[in-house]
Amino acid sequence: MPTVGRILVDEVQIKRRVDELAAELGSAFQSRQPMTVLAVLTGSFIFVADLCRRLQIPHRIGVVRASSYRGATVDPSDLHTDLSLAPDVRGRHVLLVDDILDTGATLARLVREIAALQPASITTAVLLRKIGRQTVPIEPDYVGFDIPDLFVVGYGLDYNDDYRHLPYIAALEQETAAT
Ligand code: 5GP
Ligand code: MG
Repeated sequence: MPTVGRILVDEVQIKRRVDELAAELGSAFQSRQPMTVLAVLTGSFIFVADLCRRLQIPHRIGVVRASSYRGATVDPSDLHTDLSLAPDVRGRHVLLVDDILDTGATLARLVREIAALQPASITTAVLLRKIGRQTVPIEPDYVGFDIPDLFVVGYGLDYNDDYRHLPYIAALEQETAAT
């Protein structure tokens, strides 16, 4: 089992940045109401919970699901999305929130699928963006932190559903073969 390594973003940095993002989003959505925040499960749940409580604009909250990393692996396999849990967003201004932008495939697919539900607009926000990994052209409207190309866990992000509870973002240390 890999272990938790170097902390890339600590609790204080996260809190400060979430405050900034909530303020920026609050101004941006002043003229974009009614607002619905859609959290991409499972990785964004802590980020969204913190962000929503600081957002000074009334909003609905819903969830969509996306999974690309399945089980005990750090390699992407087939991308699965599920919008069946999302509330009706027709005519509403959607803020789609994911934990991390890696290749961009997840966010691009979700934006396309949500657009088909005829919202008034779609804005995207990710807590983390990995440098040099994007293969699908999509620029998130809001980014919390740019990070190096490492597999990270904590603050909602998992390895095989472990480590989501960590209050900081850390790199996952792969066990190197003994001796
Ligand atoms: P993308 O579709 O952009 O390649 O991947 C986005 C999804 O892959 C994220 O929503 C996240 O679930 C997962 N992912 C990508 N990189 C990491 C990482 O470093 N750590 C974790 N825990 N998940 C990641
Ligand atoms: Mg995810």
